[in-house]
Amino acid sequence: MFGMPTPNTLLDVIQAAPAGRTAILLPEAGIHVTYESLRNQVRSMADALASLGIQKGDRISTVLPNGLPAIVSFLAASIAGTAAPLNPGYREEEFRFYLEDTNAKLVLCPADGAGEARRAAAALGIPARSLEMDAAGVVRIVDAPGGKTASAPSPDDVALVLHTSGSTGRPKRVPILHRNIAASVCNIVAHYSLTRKDTALCVMPLFHVHGLVASTLSTLYSGGTVVAPAKFNPLSFWRTVRDAHVTWYSAVPTIHSLLLSRAGEERPAGAEGLRFIRSCSAALPPEMMEKMERVFGAPVLEAYGMTEASHQMASNPQPPAVRKPGSVGPGTGIKISIMDEAGNHLPSDTRGEVVIQGPNVVSGYENNPEANAKSFTNGWFRTGDQGFLDADGYLVLTGRIKELINRGGEKIGPREIDEVLLSHPAVGEAVAFGVPHPTWGEEVAAAVVLKEPAAEADILAFCKQRLADFKCPKKLYIINTIPRTATGKIQRGEVARALTA
Ligand code: AMP
Repeated sequence: MFGMPTPNTLLDVIQAAPAGRTAILLPEAGIHVTYESLRNQVRSMADALASLGIQKGDRISTVLPNGLPAIVSFLAASIAGTAAPLNPGYREEEFRFYLEDTNAKLVLCPADGAGEARRAAAALGIPARSLEMDAAGVVRIVDAPGGKTASAPSPDDVALVLHTSGSTGRPKRVPILHRNIAASVCNIVAHYSLTRKDTALCVMPLFHVHGLVASTLSTLYSGGTVVAPAKFNPLSFWRTVRDAHVTWYSAVPTIHSLLLSRAGEERPAGAEGLRFIRSCSAALPPEMMEKMERVFGAPVLEAYGMTEASHQMASNPQPPAVRKPGSVGPGTGIKISIMDEAGNHLPSDTRGEVVIQGPNVVSGYENNPEANAKSFTNGWFRTGDQGFLDADGYLVLTGRIKELINRGGEKIGPREIDEVLLSHPAVGEAVAFGVPHPTWGEEVAAAVVLKEPAAEADILAFCKQRLADFKCPKKLYIINTIPRTATGKIQRGEVARALTA
């Protein structure tokens, strides 16, 4: 790829570009960070982490908004140990779970804020350190000691650990190796022909593979520029696209939909510089794709990604190849097949479970033999998604076997919400489920049966204290009995249909 050696680790990924080019642009502060500066900052922070006692395999949790500190600390943590980025919106109890479950050795936070994460770390006896950034765009760990040098990672070291929500039980830990991410980055760069001329606007959170791998690491490997605002802002989005000469962005349909509502029928200034728009992490309705292409005037390429595949599995191709609305395209550097429950591969146009195989796919969940036994069949990873391959090998997703609520791309395990509701003293039974929502795709709702009187507002406030805002039910049905199937089972989909009909 452009004469650069194939990367095996994240250290290789950031070595590919010439020193003086802009790696990262922080649009709010107007700060340009060169590749030389990025490499130096990552090295220095990896050494600081080693000097703080971090060794290979040690988990470093980060609780940061998008921006340079999130990118530098992610890379440094994956080199000195293993990066474990967390959603800064979690509540103290959620931080406690994730910090304990990942066995975090250190927590990195912004100099101010992150109170809930700091309290959770203190309760568990885990040290928390602050990050600071100066006006020149250099990030450091405040008062970090020196003296040690972090050794280079090997391809089989775990670079990143993330959680995915399970249908049953607690969230599962996904250990992603350096070589898994490096393979994913190569697939993405090749598929979209990313080069040094490209500038990506990263509006997806950096604590997920979508923002990290697709927008950020792929761009860094191609030697392009990542524009990294602190968060998605529909008011300044197109101004940033225009001023920074953005050539592509990747986002969830919720973000595309907000941008479309603001644009009306008028092409926003700046959109003429876009080579393509990528959509991933939730289904893109064909009408939305058609409207985006018409109003924004750029090809819209829907892709399919998941944490266990270090993000991308499939994507529609660039023109002149055909992009099909309602399909996520053919596999990108990965094998995709459709399997029945018994493990037989199914012919094209036949629905079944989407299974995958490839160098970007993790080899198993951490410390979870039960989930591994269920998720792998004859070397194929079962995605929990349902779909079929058409005659051209394009994948069409038709549903989900796994129980997840997909709220604007953010995956929520409904059991986690059931458990919080059931811990309320007045709640006897609880079932959380997703309901269709015009902007979020799906929104969280729940049904409860009370064993003693309680007000809806009181139960919702109880949830708010224990669950990040995106997970809190927005609608609560207080009912006498939970609807069951003919065989007496509770099925979330059935409950949702019965209550929202
Ligand atoms: P995550 O691990 O958070 O990236 O979530 C992965 C899941 O997101 C997949 O297993 C799918 O259920 C869903 N997903 C990703 N991309 C799409 C898409 N283009 N259309 C529908 N669902 C998607």
